[in-house]
Amino acid sequence: MRTTRTDSRDAKDSLPSGQAIGRSAQIFNEHNLDLYRDQVDQAADAVTAAVRRAKQVHSGVRPSELAPAFEALDLDDACGDMPAALEELRRLYLDHAVYFHHPRYAAHLNCPVLVPSIAAEVVLSAINSSLDTWDQSAGGTFIEQKLIAWTAKRAGLGDAADGVFTSGGTQSNLMAMLLMRDAWCAREYGHGTVQKQGLPTEASRLRVFVSEVSHFSLSKAAALLGLGHDAVVSVPCDAAKRMDTEALAVAIAACRAEGNIPIAVAATCGTTDFGSVDDMTAIGVICRAEKLWMHVDAAYGCGLLVSNRHRHKLAGIENADSLTVDYHKAFFQPVSCSAFIVNNGADLGLITHHADYLNPAEAAAAGTPDQVNKSLQTTKRFDALKLWLTLRTIGPDAIGDAFDGAVALARATYELMLAEPRLELLHRPELSTIVFRYRPCLTTSEAELDALNATIRAQLARDGEAMVAGTKVDGRRYLKFTLLNPATTVEQMREIVDLVVTYGMANDRNAQLVAAVPAANRAYRRHG
Ligand SMILES: *Cc1c(COP(=O)(O)O)cnc(C)c1O
Repeated sequence: MRTTRTDSRDAKDSLPSGQAIGRSAQIFNEHNLDLYRDQVDQAADAVTAAVRRAKQVHSGVRPSELAPAFEALDLDDACGDMPAALEELRRLYLDHAVYFHHPRYAAHLNCPVLVPSIAAEVVLSAINSSLDTWDQSAGGTFIEQKLIAWTAKRAGLGDAADGVFTSGGTQSNLMAMLLMRDAWCAREYGHGTVQKQGLPTEASRLRVFVSEVSHFSLSKAAALLGLGHDAVVSVPCDAAKRMDTEALAVAIAACRAEGNIPIAVAATCGTTDFGSVDDMTAIGVICRAEKLWMHVDAAYGCGLLVSNRHRHKLAGIENADSLTVDYHKAFFQPVSCSAFIVNNGADLGLITHHADYLNPAEAAAAGTPDQVNKSLQTTKRFDALKLWLTLRTIGPDAIGDAFDGAVALARATYELMLAEPRLELLHRPELSTIVFRYRPCLTTSEAELDALNATIRAQLARDGEAMVAGTKVDGRRYLKFTLLNPATTVEQMREIVDLVVTYGMANDRNAQLVAAVPAANRAYRRHG
């Protein structure tokens, strides 16, 4: 007689052994190691085949074209085995993925990843350590701590520096805004008051100064933390898109005159659009004189920490009270891999919370190392292992050379774009982005240019020919190359530039007319 689990009379007899459950549920353990090897191999084979097939950066598929395949799929009805599930995944995802390693991917701050970091993903997801407490991670905690100390040292921070790995720059910037707020509150009202009683009445008057091209996550953090978007004061930039430090001093004085309370300045080391690096020396002087917290958002510019050629651009970063670094942008690590670091480790005590079941105060007092006391996250991925295995395999210079390669590629691309009269270049690349637009002729209206450049970007993406980013500057539409692939050649960049011009001309109703105008009359440049 066939028994089922719902048949209570036979429940005892029909209960499968633990080992059988482990097998059928495919639990990772010592009995399933062959299965583990086999499935990881199959997954790697699927990736290998997909990357071999990916001649284009993207299939160009539209959401409306892909959606029906997902609607038809019933998650209660499993494929049954890994080969079938991977075959389905090919149709649904791999065939249409956006490939960041592709030489014609030049859109956002996504990097091709280093092979040792992928190998680390295999290790960290199998062992599955959680980097909150020592009793869930053991040596993993030391790995994370050693990488934080290494990064802090590269940035020239002091011996008391400390920090944690985070999910990304957004979380790191949130932590920065939180510490700026709570450090001020602790000074005014005593340690722990804001944690216990909430925000003081002056909270709506606290102000943090950022450049006008800083990352939106700072403003979002201010809103999340009850300070409001108005707490973030946007300071104008100079022609090179760096925060104008004279304007900063004026803004701080004006803020005080209005009865508001400056608490911090957030400098950007590598702005998302322009790669510009704020003057961290001058900002450091201002912060010291005005007793303000200095944050440095180096989500992008952190690649300079290992650069062999451009390290000097980091001058003044050692003044930072806190630092955001995104290894998943400029260190060629898979998402997520980021950190938040403070110069004075004691500042992280502002967010420490002891739970009896997790990180009792006695454990901290006994010197048990852990990361949860400094973190917004509790259960946390062992992302640090990716950077660790990369550094231990190929070393920091190899990462720095890759970053320098991307910077050199941007320079060379900029030079070749200068020779193309139909392109307007907005700045000299400081790191590895280039903001520009197709502008065939001075008389084309701004509205027409907006439409033309939006069309160029959309058509390139639709045809899967190239992915370039779009942004707005002074309300007008521009295109942007973000170059983080040191394996891309200048020749390949020339092909993308040619594509932009070709798509521009194909959509430009004045193209024929323009072709007749002497090149000298068409050339138009505006540089920072
Ligand atoms: C990308 C970026 C961020 C946000 O980082 P995520 O990892 O995407 O959360 C913050 N600041 C700057 C300057 C960035 O470029």
